[in-house]
Amino acid sequence: MKLLEERIRKDGKVYAGDVLKVDSFLNHQIDVDFLCEVGKEFYHIYKDCGVNKILTVEASGIGVACLTAQYFHCPAVFAKKSKTSNIGNDFWSAKAHSYTHGTDNTLIVSKSYLGKGDRVLILDDFLANGCAATAMAELCEQAGAAVVGVGAVIEKAYQKGGDALRKSGFRVESLARIASMSPEDGIRFCE
Ligand code: 5GP
Repeated sequence: MKLLEERIRKDGKVYAGDVLKVDSFLNHQIDVDFLCEVGKEFYHIYKDCGVNKILTVEASGIGVACLTAQYFHCPAVFAKKSKTSNIGNDFWSAKAHSYTHGTDNTLIVSKSYLGKGDRVLILDDFLANGCAATAMAELCEQAGAAVVGVGAVIEKAYQKGGDALRKSGFRVESLARIASMSPEDGIRFCE
């Protein structure tokens, strides 16, 4: 998505440790008009897949999940990273290593919001090593739900997550694919 690549070039900041900061428009301050365009793009890609639910993980995926869900006219569900007192005991859970925090989390989704018959589009802001997406796919498997695709706003294609998920049979679509990045040389996108 050309518009997205231009925005990443303009506002993205590359940090040491393979972290791209795009929090001025994607995952801290949210540029709603811009993310609606991102949502339309995901809709365009997956519109014929019978999506009835979008699944993401708190907190940075929630913006893109909601602004995409409006085009599918379906709910956006976010996996929680900790068990809150009001979730009850009926939930699916899967372990995921957090890329940015370096900690292990247990992702949790209430059984009320993910189940048999659901056709799920997994969305996230970033795809790096694929831990978050794999854990979300595991939640869907536990629930008996079908994963119709995995969408990332930004895939760091030089990291292993995207290809591993594709090899496992998932349809992975990313709107911007980064071939390499460093604080010194900046960002290069895949052709
Ligand atoms: P993965 O689980 O695929 O290794 O990493 C994806 C998750 O880590 C996403 O939920 C995202 O929030 C976070 N993440 C991974 N790489 C980056 C990055 O370069 N910048 C930011 N801001 N978040 C990232």
